[in-house]
Amino acid sequence: MKQFIYDRNREILSCGAIRDEQAQLLAEHIEYCRAKSPYYAKICKDIPAVTAADSFDILASLPFTSKDDLAGNINQFVAAPECDIRDIAFSSGTTGAPLPIVYTENDLRRLAYNEQKAFIACGMTPLDKILLTCTMDRCFIAGLAYREGVRAVGAAVIRNGLNSLESHAGIIASMKPSIIIGVPSFLKKLGKFLDAEKIDHNFVKKLICIGEPVRGNDCQLSLPGSLLESLWGARVYSTYASSETITSFCDCEAACGGHLHHDLAILEIIDDNGNPCGPGVQGEVVITPLQMEGMPLLRFKTGDISQYFDEQCACGRSTPRLGPIAGRKQQMMKINGTTVYPETVFSCLEALPGIIDYYITARSNDGHLEQAEVTVSVSGDSGLTVEKISNRIAAAARVRLPAAIKPYDQVYQRIFYGASRKPVRFFIVDGREELKG
Ligand SMILES: [Zn+2]
Repeated sequence: MKQFIYDRNREILSCGAIRDEQAQLLAEHIEYCRAKSPYYAKICKDIPAVTAADSFDILASLPFTSKDDLAGNINQFVAAPECDIRDIAFSSGTTGAPLPIVYTENDLRRLAYNEQKAFIACGMTPLDKILLTCTMDRCFIAGLAYREGVRAVGAAVIRNGLNSLESHAGIIASMKPSIIIGVPSFLKKLGKFLDAEKIDHNFVKKLICIGEPVRGNDCQLSLPGSLLESLWGARVYSTYASSETITSFCDCEAACGGHLHHDLAILEIIDDNGNPCGPGVQGEVVITPLQMEGMPLLRFKTGDISQYFDEQCACGRSTPRLGPIAGRKQQMMKINGTTVYPETVFSCLEALPGIIDYYITARSNDGHLEQAEVTVSVSGDSGLTVEKISNRIAAAARVRLPAAIKPYDQVYQRIFYGASRKPVRFFIVDGREELKG
């Protein structure tokens, strides 16, 4: 059984020491994949024995693993015997079919350690009380990861999950949590609700944001991020992870990008041709999680677009930091030649007073998203018109998207249509269909 024990001194290793440790762990990881994973046994069959001296070079020579590779060969990726599997979660596949991701006891310990490192980096201590507003069930791994991470820090967790504003308000009033973990657009609604109900929340010191970006590409808070800070009077941190790689990147107290946990993953950012991007250049996030047993991966293409920064951080860590997620590669729209991700439009709408909720419908022509429309619901006294909304989007995203205003019920039903586990605000329709909004 591997030991995952937090050590503050190992958080601030030099770049050289980090590289040495990664090289050794990577060599062990590639050999584990070759020995235990039927999928990687084939891919790695002709490479020489991997040592720390050549593990990075060998990794660079291996092919990427895409979500389609996973979906098409899911059983081939399982590297542990069935009797060692302790948890099965589901990740959303590229076609929407969920993919089972298996975790061993060791993987769950690793999961706890991973979040422990992330939470300590952003200043969580055993004295904190943390309210979870994301789901623990529905086969999600994230809620479990946060819970295990809080436990590993030695703090207390309150698992209220996907509950109503009223329910969260009651718990906030009675339990006075110091940290809340949740989706920024929900935390905005919750903060406004507390203010409207005159419920005190000045004991909430930090908001750990998941799923939606709160920073711009310069890692400074975006307008929605700043609004969240002033609404709550709390500091905003963001965290990013995926079910397949169970490796999180969480802002430290310097709050300028999510640190890589060097002993748990290798990070690459690649361009459209698979070549490495340098620091500050946007590309696809590729992760090789280290020390995984159940479903180990090599060079996993997450489909998320971001960039990394490698200057020494004010917090003392030398590990690279991952910037905010600009969007999903599959959701990249090219409107009149300008690239735009839904998140940019969402950020703009989040910052627009009077918008209650929203979604985007994009039209696909041979896989290219070149037309899109925004549908919003607005409060009665907002004074917002479709022209004003389109203008604001044009100013923020450099593209003009037609907007439609619809009653809240209709917008809500579209967003929560079906049995999705989280709000879906981006829809792709076939190019031959009319954009129905
Ligand atoms: Zn830092």
